[in-house]
Amino acid sequence: LDNVAHDLRTPLTRLRGTAELTLASPPDVERYREALADCVEESDRVLVMLNTLMDISEAESGAMPLQHERVMLADVAARALDLYRDVADAKDITFESKTDPNIAVSGDRVRLEQVAANLIDNAIKYTPEGGGVKVVVTGDGTRAQLSVQDNGVGISPEEQLRIWDRLFRGDQSRAERGLGLGLSLVKAIVSAHGGSVSVDSQQGKGSTFTVSLPLIPNP
Ligand code: ADP
Repeated sequence: LDNVAHDLRTPLTRLRGTAELTLASPPDVERYREALADCVEESDRVLVMLNTLMDISEAESGAMPLQHERVMLADVAARALDLYRDVADAKDITFESKTDPNIAVSGDRVRLEQVAANLIDNAIKYTPEGGGVKVVVTGDGTRAQLSVQDNGVGISPEEQLRIWDRLFRGDQSRAERGLGLGLSLVKAIVSAHGGSVSVDSQQGKGSTFTVSLPLIPNP
């Protein structure tokens, strides 16, 4: 709660400051316009944070509505990669994928795509220009696995214990945009699907996040 209160107070204080300062200045349409645009931006930040926090609580408590269907994990990976292709190009990051087309799970397609997208988003964010991101989908008889590998900055052993906490952001992450909620949401959605998520990382070398879900055997 301390963290949430602190992270909500910052944008709200900025929003209030902008409004107060503008009200105290001489009337000027252009100034008003700029101030209102700033206010919308700050409100959006608060709304995204609150919506994500609510999604996490819902997923953790089992109240998140999940539209279960047979989902091919390779399709989930492909769609999430498509979503981020431009972002990766802009950073000169190469995508690679090695996905078994026969791996099916029971789950909510949109939520599973959100999981893959969050992991790919992080992989791009925390990998320097010219790096690479690889998505692998495999199965081993009972479990289906989707992993996202990068050769970026990596995560220290101490931080690896805390990255799943709500609003936690690593020391090296401050320069990047983010709320510290992505991995908490990933973990909550994966758990709601009866799965688990783990990380294997080495500082300076890169990270691999692996989502493991119950596999639907091939008919
Ligand atoms: P955010 O990215 O908004 O900070 P997340 O919950 O997605 O929040 O991640 C929490 C922290 O975990 C990040 O701040 C970062 O320190 C670390 N992290 C997550 N993914 C990676 C990655 N692929 N490489 C290095 N660090 C990562």
